[in-house]
Amino acid sequence: MKWAWKIVVDNSSLWSRLVEAKYLKNRCVLDVAPKNSDSILWKSILNVRSHISKGICRKIGDGKATSIWFHPWVPNGTLQPQPRAEAAGNVSLVSNFISANHWDEDMVRRWFNSDDVKRILNITLPLEPTKDSWIWSPEDNGKFSIKSAYRVVKNMGVMSVDDSKWRIIWGAKIHNRLKMFWWKILANYLLTRSKLSSLFKVDDPNCPLCGIKVEDTIHLFWSCQFARAVWFGSLWHLRTENYSPTNWDSWLLLFKEEQNRPLGLSFSMFLKGAAIIFERIWKERNNIIHGVHPSPISTVIRIIDKRLQEAVVHHETYPIPQPQWLSPPPGWVKCSTDVAIDNNSSAGAAIFWNEEDEIIGLFTIKLNYCDSLAGEIAALAYGAEVAATLHCSKVIFHSDSVNAITAVRFANNKIQALHHNIQDVVRMFKRSSAALSLWEALWIPRGLNGVAHCVARWAINSQQFGCINLTDFDGSLLTG
Ligand SMILES: [Zn+2]
Repeated sequence: MKWAWKIVVDNSSLWSRLVEAKYLKNRCVLDVAPKNSDSILWKSILNVRSHISKGICRKIGDGKATSIWFHPWVPNGTLQPQPRAEAAGNVSLVSNFISANHWDEDMVRRWFNSDDVKRILNITLPLEPTKDSWIWSPEDNGKFSIKSAYRVVKNMGVMSVDDSKWRIIWGAKIHNRLKMFWWKILANYLLTRSKLSSLFKVDDPNCPLCGIKVEDTIHLFWSCQFARAVWFGSLWHLRTENYSPTNWDSWLLLFKEEQNRPLGLSFSMFLKGAAIIFERIWKERNNIIHGVHPSPISTVIRIIDKRLQEAVVHHETYPIPQPQWLSPPPGWVKCSTDVAIDNNSSAGAAIFWNEEDEIIGLFTIKLNYCDSLAGEIAALAYGAEVAATLHCSKVIFHSDSVNAITAVRFANNKIQALHHNIQDVVRMFKRSSAALSLWEALWIPRGLNGVAHCVARWAINSQQFGCINLTDFDGSLLTG
């Protein structure tokens, strides 16, 4: 599979040049038909194409090498949207929809239906003219990995129930490490004894914790007497014996129902807590396997409870302690930013404050993001751009998005680890902020970012963009 990926994305490697000369002769690997005379290797490469094509997508640079008809080019859904039937004209390349490094919004709206318009306008175009390239869309940073390829392959050809299971996990608002743990469970990737015995001959397939039943994940984490004791003993006091899911699909369906969850707990929080418990059980299980003295169950429960409590607190008032809205230090300007997103468009706001905590400038920009993280970062980038044109020297940027703040603080050489669609927005922020002598980016709670929030909302409703005259505002908005 990695080979097929290499042929598609990398024209320079020796391997792809060989393949090019021998088999492709200027065709795209995704378009070649298999022949009976093909070698085994080549056949197997062609066979995995369907998997590759499920996740591969163009990364739009100048759009000149991407066809709207023949290339997958719009992430997060139908990769190759169908233009509206009534749209006509001599248009075939994505570059026809781009002018001066920006989307030609009117034209995009004329050509595509509204859902596709959202996804197209959400694509970040690079700062400088860049050639189109390929990205592997299942992976955030766009780089191909066996891990995500495996996920895509597992997703293939199975029922929709299975699809929804992956969507639930990848969509849940939980830490990536816990997501990975869930993924390992659902993909049957954890090396339990039952899994091992499907691969090798195993002396004892029974659960190391109870020694009675075969160790598969549903037993280990749910129905084993050890799991029962842990689930019941910890914060949520859940009696696992009241539910007897036979597999994780039915487990997920069961706890999707609110009445089956502990009171007041969202599904995401429940999945998060469950992963915390599973992780701990897995650790204990491994300790026993490796001959480490097992912890008493009361200790296990105490550790889990502590993490569950942190998870819930973390969730409700993140981060702790709550920072205060402080005036900027002498010589510094503060710039608070926010984004507002509605059905058709979005708007960013950047509010500048002096050290007396007075508003010295209100700026808004029309954006096209439907993805809030990209929008939040675009608002920060806009703030940095304005700060540079205002010749500010020291600026504290604020956003109420933890992820946006984290992203703009990424070192320049680490940016490519970020999600592919925010990399260029972060670079935009970096480029503008480089004109400042000092800057800092800090998270503030949403409650303290009310002004930027209101201004962004107001901009999207009134469609007023640019430098906003302070007198255009009614005072109530600013004190609210
Ligand atoms: Zn057991």
